[in-house]
Amino acid sequence: MTGSVIIAGLGPGDPRLVTPEVTAALAQATDILGYIPYVARIAPRPGLTLHPSDNREELARARAALTLAAAGRHAVIVSSGDPGVFAMASAVFEALEDRPDWQALDIRVLPGITAMLAAAAAAGAPLGHDFCAINLSDNLKPFALIEARVRAAAGADFAMAFYNPRSASRPEGFGRVLAILRDTCTPDRLITFARAVSTPDQTITTVTLNDARPEMADMRTVVLVGNATTRRVGRFVYTPRSAE
Ligand code: SAH
Repeated sequence: MTGSVIIAGLGPGDPRLVTPEVTAALAQATDILGYIPYVARIAPRPGLTLHPSDNREELARARAALTLAAAGRHAVIVSSGDPGVFAMASAVFEALEDRPDWQALDIRVLPGITAMLAAAAAAGAPLGHDFCAINLSDNLKPFALIEARVRAAAGADFAMAFYNPRSASRPEGFGRVLAILRDTCTPDRLITFARAVSTPDQTITTVTLNDARPEMADMRTVVLVGNATTRRVGRFVYTPRSAE
């Protein structure tokens, strides 16, 4: 029997935002691997083995899934949001680099709704013009690179989505990022803090850069920074499609 590895995105939280393609893959799986809170979103059933693991073990998790597939199992690695956005898909391809024998396996990436798109929809259309996504975690890159990218993106007037903005182990970084924005942007720049989007805990708060504080973000928050034209209309925030 030929096994498979599917890297699937579970969306931002609401079960209605899991795609039918991902639901079908989960129903066929023999094994589900992923970070503990993501595997917790999968209902147990006979014939399905759940393999929750810690979030610093991504390469080991990828190799475990590929090993299961090589033995004929149907492994699904789950990520929140989209598996290609600061998530497991890259780890699987990295694990393939030194294992030509695994490269012929049936491997597929199934997209999901990433946090910034669910957050933007909840707020209105703050990413309606050119934008970029930046991971503020310095687990896998130096903080100087994060600062350089934020400065470059703000200088080019991109709207921005910040993932992993602030954690208990990295309380300082987001304050430094806000300081860069204050250097580059006027104080009326709109910033949306979108927390636990599409879950019962969802909160969406839009403030000006002047009023933004580091404590407004945590690890369940994606932060959307508008460009120079981003504005409010009624209760919504949007970025016009024209740059004028
Ligand atoms: N692959 C995921 C991102 C993983 S990184 C995706 O595509 O969404 C984890 C970060 O994603 C969190 O720190 C937070 O910034 C963001 N995030 C994930 N789910 C979220 C949600 N429901 N609401 C707000 N932010 C979320």
